[in-house]
Amino acid sequence: MAEQKAYTKPLPFIDGATGEFYDFCKKHELRFQRCTKCGTWRHVPRDMCAECGSWDWEWAKSSGRGKLFTWTVVTRAMHPEFTEEVPYAVCLVELEEGPRLVSRVVDVPPQDLRYQMPVQVIFDAVTPEVTLPRFRRISG
Ligand SMILES: [Zn+2]
Repeated sequence: MAEQKAYTKPLPFIDGATGEFYDFCKKHELRFQRCTKCGTWRHVPRDMCAECGSWDWEWAKSSGRGKLFTWTVVTRAMHPEFTEEVPYAVCLVELEEGPRLVSRVVDVPPQDLRYQMPVQVIFDAVTPEVTLPRFRRISG
């Protein structure tokens, strides 16, 4: 394995349903909560369906394909660990099943991002415990 600098950026808090979301990422599965009463997908994890009020849900597997919904370019790092990365884009990807996920598109510089650009999830094991879902551009 290639030697890698230790990951020192902030990490998600792995707990409850959010922890389960990241556990699936660790297995290279992008799963979101889906209401088993009305079928609505949702993210971030929460107990109740905002559409129908049901408390019943399942972890449904996403295709991992989506489109860039919007983004913002960070030019001044708000955390010292990101200083060397500016400028970078924080992206909101809309998965084809409907949920939206804040992430990064790893292979496209901020100035080349386009609204509705097709993307596919990839998984970045930043620590032995945490794998982050990120995206790369696909044709389509
Ligand atoms: Zn529902």
